[in-house]
Amino acid sequence: MPPAGEDQQKVSEVSEADKACIDNLEKLGLRFEKRPPVQENACKIANPVSVSGLPNGVEISPVSLMECRYAEGLARWVGEVVVPRAGEHLKAAPKKILIGTSYQCRDQRSGAKLSEHAFGNGVDVMGFEFDKSGPLTIKFQAEGSPEAAFQSAIQKEACAIFSTVLGPGADADHGDHLHLDMRARKGDYRICQ
Ligand SMILES: [Zn+2]
Repeated sequence: MPPAGEDQQKVSEVSEADKACIDNLEKLGLRFEKRPPVQENACKIANPVSVSGLPNGVEISPVSLMECRYAEGLARWVGEVVVPRAGEHLKAAPKKILIGTSYQCRDQRSGAKLSEHAFGNGVDVMGFEFDKSGPLTIKFQAEGSPEAAFQSAIQKEACAIFSTVLGPGADADHGDHLHLDMRARKGDYRICQ
């Protein structure tokens, strides 16, 4: 058993990192509320935040519970990828991200192990609403359309930020949403489909 002092230090290190993450969300300009740690059977979120808005005036609908570090990733994806690609392909700015599942205590669809949704570490994006363009629902888009170009770009570029990206074309389960998670794998192995 480690000496009590060491244990104590580990706890405070974790909370320092957690605190730094919360500070960063504030700095980035997310709209969120800090929530107490979640522990529900094997499901847990150490540093949960309930997010209602991202920088760039993008609303999260419905308000979604996620791990702080995941919220940082989502804000990065929207700011660095979704906003510029929407401008480029749709000549519009995203106003709202429509979320299907965020935190949920359940197994992976394959049933093998807990889904990243069980750790607040994954979100299903169902679609977007824009200022100067109609809403976009994630699905197989008409080939050659601006919607297809937009969706393909934001899906592909999500792979630089998230470790798992699954969408239409990946498998039968992901035909109507983008599943984006930050599962930690050996050697930074990523699944990008
Ligand atoms: Zn999912």
